[in-house]
Amino acid sequence: MNNKEMSIETMLSHYAEDRKNYYGAVVSPIYQTSLFTFDSMKAISEAFNNEQDSYIYTRGNNPTAKIAEDKIAFMENGECAKLFASGMGAISSAILSCVKTGDHIVAVETIYGPTISLLTDYLSKKFNIETTFVKADEEEIIKATKETTKLIYLESPTSLVFEIIDIKKVTDFAKSKSIKTIIDNSWATPIYQKPIDLGVDIVVHSASKYLSGHSDLVAGVIISTRQTIKNILRDEHALFGAKIAPLEAWLILRGLRTLPVRLRQHSESAMKIAEYLNNHKKVKKVNYPGLASHPRHALACKQLSGFSGLLSFELDASLEASHLFVDSLNYFNIGVSWGGFESLALNLARDGKDPSIPAGLIRVSVGLESTDDLIRDLEQAFSKIQ
Ligand SMILES: *Cc1c(COP(=O)(O)O)cnc(C)c1O
Repeated sequence: MNNKEMSIETMLSHYAEDRKNYYGAVVSPIYQTSLFTFDSMKAISEAFNNEQDSYIYTRGNNPTAKIAEDKIAFMENGECAKLFASGMGAISSAILSCVKTGDHIVAVETIYGPTISLLTDYLSKKFNIETTFVKADEEEIIKATKETTKLIYLESPTSLVFEIIDIKKVTDFAKSKSIKTIIDNSWATPIYQKPIDLGVDIVVHSASKYLSGHSDLVAGVIISTRQTIKNILRDEHALFGAKIAPLEAWLILRGLRTLPVRLRQHSESAMKIAEYLNNHKKVKKVNYPGLASHPRHALACKQLSGFSGLLSFELDASLEASHLFVDSLNYFNIGVSWGGFESLALNLARDGKDPSIPAGLIRVSVGLESTDDLIRDLEQAFSKIQ
């Protein structure tokens, strides 16, 4: 079958499977093995000469992981993908593959917290790799670049407040200056945003979120050209060793099969909840790019083909009342992470010690429960703080 004619939904069932090699089993085995054996020294030597396509040792490639990697690369319109032990394993490897001591990075100030820590506390202090953080705006990003800039690191939508950046504007500029671009596409998933089509060099994901979708594993993935993945496989992947476990890769495969249908439900439900919150008198502001009231909704509609289920909103309430609101919810569990089957809520101000986070800022991951039940749950929590 011509790949271009295969939709993602069909691909997820059929593409990259090699069922005749596993007795026709419809679900691939978990290749729970550390090493692979060969008939001869000639055969193992040939494998070493083509490491990217060979199974030698599971710190490099593993057949269960390969099925998931090929499906993810297909979805992102990328040539190749490599799974990692966590999103941070993928992000740190992708960033390190682009920079060395003395290089400069431009990043958006509202990206995922641990990525900020990696850039500031670690790469800057230990390796003299400086990052300039700017507001989530393409013009600000371009203005902050200089002679030594080797990387622009993006999220769109950004974490916590879901700002939108014009990706194509940034990549057009970056290409003209030979600056590499990385984007964290965890929020949109390849179902709703294809950054490689917009000129991004390297896409990263926390596969712990929607790609797996069941809150039962931690993993990450990098998607890029065959040559870039080859280099990362040889260097950051092999040498830091943050490889995916075969069982985790198998669970990702299981999650991927339902990714399009899960997202459809997350999206529909999140939109209704965002609208409900937007009309509530106790809510100051809803951060969700799917709402017409989002400052960059038009750009969001151009770049994204849909909106996933993670959003935040600002309660018009004190820290204590915001805690009471979250504590009163029954169907939204209190917890970190997002993108699973279950609804979650978190007051991002936590103990209120970070002055940059409003006391009433609450993030919700809209799960697969009934939307009506979730809205009723929010309603009763609002009634506790009136
Ligand atoms: C969770 C998250 C990560 C980190 O992924 P892990 O799998 O937890 O290491 C990276 N980026 C974003 C946007 C995330 O939400």
